[in-house]
Amino acid sequence: MTRYDAVVIGGGHNGLTAAAYLGRAGRRVLVLERRHVLGGAAVTEEVFPGFRISVCSYVVSLLRPEIIRELDLPRHGLEILPLDGTFTPMQGGDYLWRVNDHAATRREIARHSKLDAEAYDEYGKAMVDMARFVKPILGMTPPDPMSLRPRDLLALLGLGRRFRALGAADRRNQLQLMTMSAVDFLDQWFETDVLKATMAASGVIGTFLGVRSPGTAYVLLHHYMGEIDGAFRSWGFSRGGTGAISNAIALAAREAGVEIRTEAPVARIRTHGGRATGVVLANGDEIESALVLSSVDPHLTFLEFLEPDDLPAEFVADVGRYKFRGSSGKVNLALDALPDFTCRPGPGAHLRGAISISPSVDYMERAYDQAKYGEFSRRPYIDMVIPTLTDPSVAPPGKHILSCFVQYAPYRLAQGTWDDQREAFGDAVVDTIAEFAPNIRRIIRHRQVLTPLDLEREFGLTEGNIFQGELTLEQLFFLRPAPGWAQYATPIQGLWMCGSAAHPGGGIMGAPGRNAALRILGRTR
Ligand SMILES: Cc1cc2nc3c(=O)[nH]c(=O)nc-3n(C[C@H](O)[C@H](O)[C@H](O)COP(=O)(O)OP(=O)(O)OC[C@H]3O[C@@H](n4cnc5c(N)ncnc54)[C@H](O)[C@@H]3O)c2cc1C
Repeated sequence: MTRYDAVVIGGGHNGLTAAAYLGRAGRRVLVLERRHVLGGAAVTEEVFPGFRISVCSYVVSLLRPEIIRELDLPRHGLEILPLDGTFTPMQGGDYLWRVNDHAATRREIARHSKLDAEAYDEYGKAMVDMARFVKPILGMTPPDPMSLRPRDLLALLGLGRRFRALGAADRRNQLQLMTMSAVDFLDQWFETDVLKATMAASGVIGTFLGVRSPGTAYVLLHHYMGEIDGAFRSWGFSRGGTGAISNAIALAAREAGVEIRTEAPVARIRTHGGRATGVVLANGDEIESALVLSSVDPHLTFLEFLEPDDLPAEFVADVGRYKFRGSSGKVNLALDALPDFTCRPGPGAHLRGAISISPSVDYMERAYDQAKYGEFSRRPYIDMVIPTLTDPSVAPPGKHILSCFVQYAPYRLAQGTWDDQREAFGDAVVDTIAEFAPNIRRIIRHRQVLTPLDLEREFGLTEGNIFQGELTLEQLFFLRPAPGWAQYATPIQGLWMCGSAAHPGGGIMGAPGRNAALRILGRTR
């Protein structure tokens, strides 16, 4: 039997990243992916003939530049194409259209409110400062505040010093971002409802919270932190869909000697004397390895792949408390033509960026109200993109893809099951789009509807949470995935976490995978 230095459970982009770093350090590494295709939630699949769809994640911004550089991803096919701005159609026939050109956006906001146009400059500067403060934290192993080890104390001291070095206004903003709701935070800067609603939307993505729930301001910052080639706050498409990112990382890993197997579901992690010794596949095959890295969530890793007796009871209780609470769905539409928005008819640059159905703060909060009581939103928040306008290679000539990220879709329905409700949910999404772009029903050729249950069944995302666990403050940084266990190690020696359930969390970032690998290699700060 081959004995590996490291076996990685899951061939999502984080598992692949960890494997690539270990492979480059000369370790003998095997990646085991349950599905027939690599990428996890960063995957492109030909769902309908000729339509290559980013089935789950659809835009990229958080992917760490150091990973792009160190793994030489452009040489392995990675190409990021800019996504220009956000277009929000409104109910009364107007719209808000922010683009990457600052002066143009300022003019557009001034059309709604002169005060807001001025505040936008200040806000942009403050958020960049905040993002600069938080950004280095993405690449670090979180210190354990309960430990007296010099390494942890020094890291905590370093964080404290950086916080003290911020100006008074930045310190206040930072504290507010950590505690306030997205809407309360934005209310301090802006008066235009549609502007606040659209900005606040990024504060609720992947959480079971509304735009007025405390804690959502931080998620807003999390989504603000992306960068492409050093430009803050730019989102982009990956040519070939988000699966092309995973494939580029897989190529870098293979080049470093990593072996990758698909259709190889892991059923159990083997342990002996409190140490991981390998894994057992669903077909019974046993694989021996000195280290096991898990890029799947804590529920699967600790409660499914291990026996409760393998772990300290307190840790099992912490894992049991970890919140998933999936709240999102995805509807992918293959179109014969472009949607035509009543408020800005015809084709145009407004269709090339994100299209956000978030016309007002009350609309957003009402969408959440229904979810609180176990119903999917009848008029949901929808974040849409048409990747074919930037990368026509993913659909047949003249055809388009409309990728719709939808909230809210609670994992637990008060009535019925998701298998009964799937098409009704898809209809609610199409009906909502039709309120703003009435031609939508006529131009739909195919429709794929993914509920939180589908995300769990097909992608192994427990309760359908898109980030392998909510990005809420009580489970971030030194609390992710459990207090005392945020340094990628686990109570089982030789078993490490390396996916989105580890710091710094979800999104196509690669940071958990890289951080875990560097920690294993003893190269962390
Ligand atoms: C609908 C949706 C939309 C999203 N939109 C965006 C977006 O636009 N931009 C963005 O940055 N992020 C987005 N995200 C989040 C982002 O895609 C994820 O946070 C990220 O891809 C997670 O990567 P990962 O490698 O940590 O985990 P995953 O991608 O979850 O990978 C884990 C892998 O493990 C495999 N696996 C599960 N069980 C087993 C087993 N028993 N044995 C072997 N393998 C197993 C899975 O099949 C999967 O391939 C979205 C996610 C979803 C679901």
